[in-house]
Amino acid sequence: MDEKYSITGHGACKEVGRSAFVVDFGEKFLMDYGIKLNVDAIEYPTEITEPVKAAIISHAHLDHSGLLPYFYKKSECLSFMTQSTLELADLLWRDSIKIAEFEGMAPKYDKGEIEQTHRYNFVVPYEKKLSLTHNVSLEFFDAGHILGSALTKLTHDENTFLYTGDYKVNETQLHNGANLDVGKIDYVMTEATYGDREQADRKLEEKAFCESVQSTVERGGWAIVPVLAIGRSQEIVDILSKYNLDAPIYLDGMGKKVSEIYMQHADLIKDSDGLKKALNGVNWVEGKQGRAKAMKQPSIIVTTSGMMKGGPVIGYVQKIINDPRSKIHLTSYQAEGTPGRTLMAEGKLPREKTKELVKVGCRYEKFDFSAHPSQSEMIRALKKWSPKEIFLVHGDGKVMDLFSTKIKEELGIKTTAISAGKKVTFGKD
Ligand SMILES: [Zn+2]
Ligand SMILES: [Zn+2]
Repeated sequence: MDEKYSITGHGACKEVGRSAFVVDFGEKFLMDYGIKLNVDAIEYPTEITEPVKAAIISHAHLDHSGLLPYFYKKSECLSFMTQSTLELADLLWRDSIKIAEFEGMAPKYDKGEIEQTHRYNFVVPYEKKLSLTHNVSLEFFDAGHILGSALTKLTHDENTFLYTGDYKVNETQLHNGANLDVGKIDYVMTEATYGDREQADRKLEEKAFCESVQSTVERGGWAIVPVLAIGRSQEIVDILSKYNLDAPIYLDGMGKKVSEIYMQHADLIKDSDGLKKALNGVNWVEGKQGRAKAMKQPSIIVTTSGMMKGGPVIGYVQKIINDPRSKIHLTSYQAEGTPGRTLMAEGKLPREKTKELVKVGCRYEKFDFSAHPSQSEMIRALKKWSPKEIFLVHGDGKVMDLFSTKIKEELGIKTTAISAGKKVTFGKD
């Protein structure tokens, strides 16, 4: 019997970043179209040459949405995403033009092309089934990763396919965790970022983080908290508010604009009143004057960027770099080659102008607040869905090998890692 369906990988195949897959159910659909931000360059997925019926974006992060305006230079089909994904993605698309210019690369699209893209965007709420074509329907479920993130369920005849995008199974400060009640699932394409490991206990990590921030301010220092703009900056502010720390909190960088979008969609947050209270309680920093004010007395400064590659964090860190009372609190994964990674590995940071690496005199520590599922969280989700077949994307090759072995041991389900440029077929008649 012939296999009916196929997946072709264009990016995020045995790597993290530039997610792009074409899923074929007799009609083709593009699932995500992102970019990969490397230390000194941006990498793109392989070109999508085959016509598709629709593009579906799982969430706003640039490694999933970042190339959509480029897609519309040649395509005229609709794209589907949640409302908050669209608002956050729009912000990131505009920012990505600046990032490309900063890297000395020609941006793949301009502001006019971002405007164009909005003509084709169609927003879909969670748990509303929508026909994409006569034969294929779409339904989104909360993925618990960031605001608006979705698990995507596609149905063709009686067959169901679930693409997880990035998701989080356990609850976090802002989200309840992914909605795993997605009905019958035959095939799953799952991210595998942390397929090889477990994570620190979140509650203990929050406590250690808040205690560290508090003692930094108590000894007369500044607690600098570099954050990712989407999700992490709101989560950190929310955690700090919950602990009721006795110190002023400042919020700087792109996290401010993102926070406004979070406030507008607070109904999608676990404790919307708590988040509103937290965001209303912080001092939103504006311009040079605001930054000077934040540095007047010991305080907590939550600011982008999360890996200290750019953003207002650079300016703050230069001021406390030799102050033994102050401390940098990293709150996310630090990619190879970023200042954050160099700080953790060597205790050094580049000088602002000369980029010369110098030993820091302040304190530093990394805290684990992942928005991705650990191995056991994913096993739990896959066990609940118990599909006929599993496909792995969005993870390093070695991690995928370990994760496939684990899935086979625990669940006995056939598992395939999607390779770049290769077509994997499935679904016998
Ligand atoms: Zn993501
Ligand atoms: Zn991702």
